[in-house]
Amino acid sequence: MRKTLLEGLAHGPLTEPAPAPDEAGLAELARSVNRAARARLGRSLSIRHVDAGSCNGCELEIHALSNAFYDLERFGLRFVASPRHADVLTVTGPVTKNMREALLRTYDAIPDPKWVIAIGACAVDGGIFASSYAVEGGVKDVVPVDLTIPGCPPNPRQLLAGLLALLQNAA
Ligand code: SF4
Repeated sequence: MRKTLLEGLAHGPLTEPAPAPDEAGLAELARSVNRAARARLGRSLSIRHVDAGSCNGCELEIHALSNAFYDLERFGLRFVASPRHADVLTVTGPVTKNMREALLRTYDAIPDPKWVIAIGACAVDGGIFASSYAVEGGVKDVVPVDLTIPGCPPNPRQLLAGLLALLQNAA
């Protein structure tokens, strides 16, 4: 044990250094999303999220949007608990048969205008779970989808860029 500790002190960790954060670029991206939301809706953006059967990898990236580094709330973007307060529905995972009804009800409860974003490869078409007996399919097989953000999982910056593209192109 002592040998391991001494080796650790002498050589340091074997992990790669974390990439330098591009905080200015990230902040500008988040501000752009907020500006687009205000231009489109007259206020900031509220998001309701549904995990329709994901492995939670996509959720880790979505949760990161609210952590101290990304801190989306400082730009007026926030996740809401009730679909009745939401503008955007984000969905992850293949839609499992057990979650189909819950997803439909959440979609119906969001007032118009509303947009749906399918996040992650599984949400696009079921991904690696597509052939499972428990899976209904991708999100588009259950509710209309306005934007898909592929990746396994997509990172927070890709999520922000997707939100921005949605708002800029929303009819
Ligand atoms: S896209 Fe990847 S990370 Fe997201 S739910 Fe599917 S397997 Fe998990």
